[in-house]
Order: sequence, then C-alpha cells, then structure tokens
Amino acid sequence: MSFASLGLSAEIVRAVEERGYTTPTPIQAQAIPAVLTGKDLLAGAQTGTGKTAGFTLPLLQRLNATRKGPPGRGQVRALVLTPTRELAAQVEESVRAYGRYLKLSSMVMFGGVGMQPQTDRLRQGVDILVATPGRLLDHHQQGNVDLSKVEILVLDEADRMLDMGFIHDIKRVLALLPAKRQNLLFSATFSDEIKALADRLLDNPQLIEVARRNATADTIAQKIYPVDREKKRHLLAKLIKDNDWHQVLVFTRTKHGANRLAEQLSNDGIPALAIHGNKSQSARTRALSEFKSGSLAVLVATDIAARGIDIAELPHVVNYELPNVPEDYVHRIGRTGRAGAEGEAISLVCVDEHKLLRDIERLIKRELPREIVPGFEVDPSIKPEPIQNGRNGPRGSRGGGRPTQGTARSSEGCPPRAPRAEGANRTGSERRGPRPDNVGNRAERPAGERRGPRPEGARAGQARSGNRAPRRGD
Ligand code: AMP
Repeated sequence: MSFASLGLSAEIVRAVEERGYTTPTPIQAQAIPAVLTGKDLLAGAQTGTGKTAGFTLPLLQRLNATRKGPPGRGQVRALVLTPTRELAAQVEESVRAYGRYLKLSSMVMFGGVGMQPQTDRLRQGVDILVATPGRLLDHHQQGNVDLSKVEILVLDEADRMLDMGFIHDIKRVLALLPAKRQNLLFSATFSDEIKALADRLLDNPQLIEVARRNATADTIAQKIYPVDREKKRHLLAKLIKDNDWHQVLVFTRTKHGANRLAEQLSNDGIPALAIHGNKSQSARTRALSEFKSGSLAVLVATDIAARGIDIAELPHVVNYELPNVPEDYVHRIGRTGRAGAEGEAISLVCVDEHKLLRDIERLIKRELPREIVPGFEVDPSIKPEPIQNGRNGPRGSRGGGRPTQGTARSSEGCPPRAPRAEGANRTGSERRGPRPDNVGNRAERPAGERRGPRPEGARAGQARSGNRAPRRGD
C-alpha cells in the first residue's frame, strides 16, 4: 500500500517520501482515509505507531483544499492540543515537514517561554496551531488568538492530558470553538474519563484502534537485570561501556535522581544530561538536540519530561528505577522499537521494586527474562526498604486502585528522603492551579489567572486538593 493510494495529494506524498517513508503504518492506513472524509475520529494509538502523520497528513490535505488565502489576524484553522511542550514541538515539526510543498502556515505554542514572540506570530493568523492548553488560554485571555474559525480540532495523547489534570483547560478551549468542526481524538488508552470526553466531543465518530491496550511492541526486546540498589549506577555504567551504547534514554522516578545519575555517569566518563520540569526550556531543548544528534550518549529523564520525546529508532531505553504506575512502563519503553525498528528496553530492579515488577508483568501479560551480570549478583541478605512517597507516605495509584509505592528513599538506586516531589513545598492554593507547560512561567500569567505552576505529573484530583502531595516525585 502507498501513501498516494490513501488519497493524499502529490505534494504531500512527495514530502512524506522525502522523510524516507514509503509504506503507511496501520494507524496511518486507517486514519488517513477516515480523516479525509471530514468525519470525527476516535483513534486508539500509542506513540510510536506513526499516529502523528496519521492525523497530520489528512489535516494538511483538507486545509489545503479549502484555503482561501492567509487566515485573518489571530485566526486559527486547525488546532492541535498536546500535553507537553516537547510533543507540541515535535508535532509542529512534522506539520512543517509534511506541509513543505503547501502554502499552509504553522506555529507551535507552549509555556515556559516569552509570550511576545508568540503574540507577534499570532497576529499574522495561523493555518495550523499546535499548542499546550495552558498557554493557549493565556493568549486567548489577552485577546491574541481567535478560535472561532477553527475547522479541525485534534486532541493528541488525550489520556495524558487528562492524567495531567488538563480537563478543565480542555473544556475551556472547547467552549471557544465553533460548533461546526471536525474533531479527532487520539489516545493510547480508553479510560472512562476518555470515553466521557469522547462522548461529549465527537459526533458519530469513526473508531480505529491499532495497538492493543497496554501491549508492548513486539519489536522491543525487554530484559530485567536484578541488582542491589547500591550497585545500580555501576551496573548501568558497565552496560553502557561494555556494549558501546551511544544513545540511551534512562528513566528515573525523580528529578533529583535524574540530576544525580547524570552527574555520576558524567564523572564515570559517560556524557550524560538530565531533563525534567525544573530545567529551563532552553536547557531541555539543548539536551534533547545533543542527544538526537548523537553527541550526548545518555539522556536521563523523568516520566513527564520524556513524554512525547520522539527520536527515530532510539536503540536503548533503561528503567533505572521502575515506575510507580505500571502503565508508565509501557509508555517509557514505547520510546524505542518505534515504527518497526528494533529496540531494547532493560530495567535495573532492586529488592525494593519486586512488587512494581510484578504489577508490570501482570499488566503486559508476560514474564520478562532476567539476567544476572557477573560481579553484580544479588546479595540475599539485603532487605527490601519501603519506597516512601514524599511526606505523605503510600497513597492510591492512578484510578484509585491499589496502593502505590512512592518515590523518595535513602538508597543510591533511588533518591534520598530529603528531596521532595515537585510542588510539595507549595501552598494548597498554589497547588490548585495550572499545568506543566507553565512551570516557571508565573510572571507571564495575568494576575487574575495566576494560579501557580502545578507539579509536573500531578493528577487532576491531586492538583485541586490543597493538602495532598503530588503522587509522583517528578
Ligand atoms: P509517532 O507515533 O507519530 O510518534 O511516530 C513514531 C515514529 O515513526 C516517528 O519517528 C515517525 O517519524 C516514524 N514514522 C511515521 N510514519 C512512518 C512510516 N510510514 N514508516 C516508517 N516510520 C514512520
């Protein structure tokens, strides 16, 4: 099957082929013709399936077909909402690449950077705006953007947006859109919340689901290295050196842990940088581009910071610490083995994490192979330590299910007790507010709007509740 056979124009097919893609992925094969009909779409697709091109290509084609010159001042014709800055930047980069032979304009918009350049750009009108919800609302409040002419709305990684507490922002954005428009909702999972949002948003949608829920890609080789918590860092350095890994994405649970590990690896002679919500946007962008270009071997990231990172054929993902929520394992390792490429995901698991590992294996319905590295045999006399969660101790996991283990602890493999989860030192009223894309950006918010940055990764319920610490230490 070819892209042309899906009904895409020669200009778009040419741009796609120049990116090196000749065969549509399953989500593209289904989504492209569906979106071209103009109907609403509910698509179940994880990152890594090629979903971005799945909505970008037909969106470009539809907008191009009806374009009558540049949009008016502040006007937007297609709006793509994403949960994170990184994903917004990547989606807009795809829009530009695939639309290079068309006359359509695009813009990316997120918080954490100055408003003024965005305001200036908006004045010219934008065919395709890719934005995080918080900054978009800021611009709307200041009268910089006119959403009344939006023809197509895309909610990308809608489940992540809900997880991150954006539902109210999304509802506020929806209220600004014209009634008649095409809606596309992409989500990796279909929780009751997503179904409720889909019911409210979509009109008789076509349904597409490509990846089984919580299934991990077959192209990813997964392995567990049991290891004592104090030896994790040495084992990681050994694996990187012995196997000559040049591009490794390493996950830690906390920002403090990410910083510390990046520093330790650098001291071991392995170039490493950490990215997380406390880093400035420019530091994050720089680290990501060094990592993508191959000059940086190791990028250490927290779950939230890594969301939406798209690196073609990323060969290695390492779970330095297992995530507290099993679903995050699937998201983490989805960074490798993308679109059919081979990838490897390894997890360093210490005695404290056995329950987390069991939960993950239950979720993905398979037992992961274990491998002991000589010299790193597990010492059976080491007793498990509970994983404490910031100040409040263990608390419910996503969806209010089983109790989750928390984040801070005093061992090497995991961060010490002292650092608190992001936002844990904020007051209740501060914690009520917004969203990761505005972290570090309070001064830019108008006083009436200023609700203070929400801890990255806070769930909706937590973010609104003044006396709870964020669930995760991100
Ligand atoms: P996504 O799921 O949109 O994040 O895309 C995952 C990765 O697959 C990205 O690196 C894309 O550039 C790549 N990709 C998208 N479409 C194709 C295709 N038809 N063939 C091969 N790779 C693709």
